[in-house]
Amino acid sequence: MAPVPVPPPPLLASHAAVRAAASAVSRSRRARRAGDQPPQVAALRRGDWVKLICGASFEDAADVRNLSLVYTLAGVDCIDCAADASVVGAVNEGIEVAASIIPAVQRPWVMVSVNDDCRDLHFRKAEFDPEDCPQDCSKPCEKVCPADAISLESVMVGGEHTQSDPLRGKLKGGVLTERCYGCGRCLPVCPYDRIRAVSYVRDPTTTCELLKGNDVDAIEIHTTGKGTDTFNTLWNSLSESINNVKLVAVSMPDIGESTVDFMNALYAIMEPHIHGYNLWQLDGRPMSGDIGRGATRETVSFAVHMASVSERPPGFYQLAGGTNSYTIDCLKKAGLFQSTTFRGTTTSEMIHSQQALIGGIAYGGYARKIIGRTLRKIPAQFGRVRIEDHPEHLLEALQEALSLVGPVKSYPALSSLS
Ligand code: SF4
Ligand code: SF4
Repeated sequence: MAPVPVPPPPLLASHAAVRAAASAVSRSRRARRAGDQPPQVAALRRGDWVKLICGASFEDAADVRNLSLVYTLAGVDCIDCAADASVVGAVNEGIEVAASIIPAVQRPWVMVSVNDDCRDLHFRKAEFDPEDCPQDCSKPCEKVCPADAISLESVMVGGEHTQSDPLRGKLKGGVLTERCYGCGRCLPVCPYDRIRAVSYVRDPTTTCELLKGNDVDAIEIHTTGKGTDTFNTLWNSLSESINNVKLVAVSMPDIGESTVDFMNALYAIMEPHIHGYNLWQLDGRPMSGDIGRGATRETVSFAVHMASVSERPPGFYQLAGGTNSYTIDCLKKAGLFQSTTFRGTTTSEMIHSQQALIGGIAYGGYARKIIGRTLRKIPAQFGRVRIEDHPEHLLEALQEALSLVGPVKSYPALSSLS
């Protein structure tokens, strides 16, 4: 008797267009596989590595899960998130759902971000007490927040809404801590100076536990470039678990003339304990990619600076901080997109290893913004949104993600993917 065909589960049946687009991505990626090195490393060597930054302080697990699902389908190599167990769980859940839609999907590495002291802007949260706010404030803080992390409403002292006479009520709500990622844009717009930024340092013991598990592949250490002591202290506290990760990244700003000396000092601290790969994240203008074209200049300038220095430390180099849809064009104009040469000068070290000068790009605020536009279209009555329950929105989000990832990965034209 002929076997009875088994219908696909409902989730898959409703995702034909998503499967078609994501399968084309998977095929394109498989065609570029190089030897037995991890595909993420091959991408870094070619210069087409893409990392999604969920945000070192962004801890909204529902959003992180949806972002991870969409960008896994779009073919990113790594997903960088807060060093928090529930957030790491959300990233892995998003990857699992992507794999349930496209079993052949390449699983991105999961990276956790930590800091060596509290001066790095990525590790802070805005705070204010809405009861201290004047009732007639026009709430510019709420309007300027790119993460929808401020929610305020006017209520009567007895609890009723009071739209018609705000002077008789008070404000309720405030900062949704898990959504605030510390961009700081609300701070200067408050006319009454009510908002403060509270900085913090990720607990190294918690980070060690995360690194020892199977859910994390990589770590990124943010450092401000103001000294190596705090880095050294953190590195020593992580050293027993650092062997568990495949990649160690250091994120830092351009500190001018002393940048390369500082990086070499950090590399000297790390070298005895690095058994995997290392990467330098060139953090241009932090948390600004969603602002527009100008935001991307600083990270590309940082890349130009690094590419011009022959004594830079070993490792892959990747852009971040202000990256958006304009970054590739800027990088091409600088002659650094997937290039092993710089301004006509062959870099023998790079030619020898056939390694791109710039391994790739990390996208944060801009990547979240283009998916957030789609997520906000899903009616609020659905509560905690699982984007895969809304196939048309998942397809739209995937197309947005591909518009960002595709140009780096040189995927075929979008029209042939959908
Ligand atoms: S710091 Fe940025 S993300 Fe946090 S509440 Fe202010 S504007 Fe929103
Ligand atoms: S702008 Fe300042 S005063 Fe106005 S609602 Fe926001 S925090 Fe309160």
